[in-house]
Amino acid sequence: MKTTTIWLLTSFLVLCFKVYSQELNYSDFTSDSESLKSSFYNNSDYFSGGTSDLPYFQGKHNNSYIKFYKSTGVTVIFDLKSQVEFLKIVRIIQKNADFRFKYCTDYNEPIVYNYQTNSGNKIRFNFNEPRISVEYPSKVNSFLDSNSEFTPVFVCISEGAYAYHTNLRCEGLANCDAQIAKSNIKEAKKYNYRICEICTTEE
Ligand SMILES: [Zn+2]
Repeated sequence: MKTTTIWLLTSFLVLCFKVYSQELNYSDFTSDSESLKSSFYNNSDYFSGGTSDLPYFQGKHNNSYIKFYKSTGVTVIFDLKSQVEFLKIVRIIQKNADFRFKYCTDYNEPIVYNYQTNSGNKIRFNFNEPRISVEYPSKVNSFLDSNSEFTPVFVCISEGAYAYHTNLRCEGLANCDAQIAKSNIKEAKKYNYRICEICTTEE
């Protein structure tokens, strides 16, 4: 009887440890893409597939799906299978990473929250889907950053307006009683608009 209890307790602890070891931590979002890749290859809680250059990993217990893509650099998409887990990671990111801005260029699209880690990884997510994307620093991305002045922004064409917005659905733009024009940061600055405080505030 006692042995059974101990055995049950042990298996329970092993199970807990297993579940715990599969949880994503903030370090999974701050490391470079190669370290992230090897940590998933070395984690027996994930199935792997795809190519060694651009693999994917599937959680055996939580079904999370992590895929490596190549666009202007390496991007990793984390698809979480539960809203609870997604929100848990979002809170960790909000607590640890630097918030940059809200971004939206289409009324039909969700607002994308942009963060950056100390290591230069760019983290993006919206609240319409349990997905987190991480873009890693690369030569092309730093070139694009140097051209960020051409990022589309929105301005209210009225006398009193002074801000340009990265989020088309910003409350600051909702008060615009004139036309809303699409511009870019360079042009908006030329006309003395400055970046909107609401667009660059986390909530
Ligand atoms: Zn704004």
